[in-house]
Amino acid sequence: MTDKTQKQSYFSNQCGKCRTGEIFSYFLLFNRKCSHCGHLFEKEEGHYLGAMIIAYLISSLMALPILLLAVFKYETDFPVAMGLTVLEILITGPIFYRYSKLVWIHAEERFTDYLHEEKKK
Ligand SMILES: [Zn+2]
Repeated sequence: MTDKTQKQSYFSNQCGKCRTGEIFSYFLLFNRKCSHCGHLFEKEEGHYLGAMIIAYLISSLMALPILLLAVFKYETDFPVAMGLTVLEILITGPIFYRYSKLVWIHAEERFTDYLHEEKKK
């Protein structure tokens, strides 16, 4: 395990267990397991549903101010404002999806470690 703390590795693309292997090979190409320690990232179908919901919520919350600004401040037509909003979601959605998945993996590791420590007590 490297010297990185759990919090430092939350947004880095490194395994939550060993903090060395990469979780994503490229921007959105998810590895099934860690290349360093072999830790399995893809555990079951729907394992990252919570991460997807978080990414969707953040994307939606980011899109709302753009929609409101376009309609009320710049007085654009509603279809144009909706087009801008959809464009914003298409651009930021994958970014939020990647980082919510990284946070989900690290939070899971931290919670698992916490449970193991509680069992030892
Ligand atoms: Zn690893």
